[in-house]
Amino acid sequence: MGQPDYYSLMVHGGAGAFEYIKDQKTAARYLESINHALEHGRAVLTQGGSALVAVETCASLLEDDPLFNAGCGSVLNENGKVEMDAAIMDGRDLSAGAVAAVQNIANPIQLARCVMIESEHVMLIAEGAKRFADHYGIAQKPDKYFFTPERMEQLKRARLKRKIMLDHDDAEESEDQKYGTIGAVARDREGNLAAATSTGGIVNKRMGRVGDSPIIGAGLYADNETCAVSATGFGEDLMRTLIGKTVSDFMLMQRMDGERATVACIEFLKRKVNGRGGIIVIDRDGNCNSGLTTKKMIHGWIEKSGETVVRF
Ligand code: ASP
Repeated sequence: MGQPDYYSLMVHGGAGAFEYIKDQKTAARYLESINHALEHGRAVLTQGGSALVAVETCASLLEDDPLFNAGCGSVLNENGKVEMDAAIMDGRDLSAGAVAAVQNIANPIQLARCVMIESEHVMLIAEGAKRFADHYGIAQKPDKYFFTPERMEQLKRARLKRKIMLDHDDAEESEDQKYGTIGAVARDREGNLAAATSTGGIVNKRMGRVGDSPIIGAGLYADNETCAVSATGFGEDLMRTLIGKTVSDFMLMQRMDGERATVACIEFLKRKVNGRGGIIVIDRDGNCNSGLTTKKMIHGWIEKSGETVVRF
């Protein structure tokens, strides 16, 4: 029997406190951008495009929007530098590609896909990833493309507080614009699943720190037998609980449906490490679910070819 001929798509723009979202204009810009990505993804999937292309398309668009903590809007590390992580996974055969601590790459998600397709590896990092990008003609941008005065200010505030922080946590002092890690998951009309996650990491992180986002099974996971997952939040919590694979395992081994697996996974994250974060999940039947332990997570979805819904 063939797969039901519908598609589903979800994207997120990061989890955190989002107190600054009280500002209506900023809130509208976030919602618009998430909506824009979803509509582009919808166009891919309507025309019979694959889940993999849909998640790459959505992730690339969000990387190009300085509102979010990925690509051009990436947060700065302790040295005032941008180091980005990204990964993509294909639920058809568990193939995956990832890059970590890369600099000057316009769209790390595209480099991750190139690693998946063109190399025999799953992850490339730093200088090696850059050489690989040079070889395959992946678009690169000068430092100034990634540095904004807002980012410098945000780093200064984090340094003053002597802490690392989630992008969206920088809310108490300031109502100005903020950015969030991005992710996308999709089920295409053939029933294939895919996931993508891309980030600048967390503000004031140590040089060389790699978070959950490019770790297969942590920041993302996709398996046609179970679900596609993208995560956001404190990477260290999400890595230690292997959040993406845990959702999938709940479905595979405990026979939970997508909704129960999502709830169980969030409970697991809280109980085991008091973790901070959120997940978006599309199960093999195209049901859309999300869960979080933070106050908010900006996200949106199209369930079974239905309407576009976007919310904090
Ligand atoms: N998970 C990302 C990291 O720890 C941050 C985020 O989701 O905003 O690198």
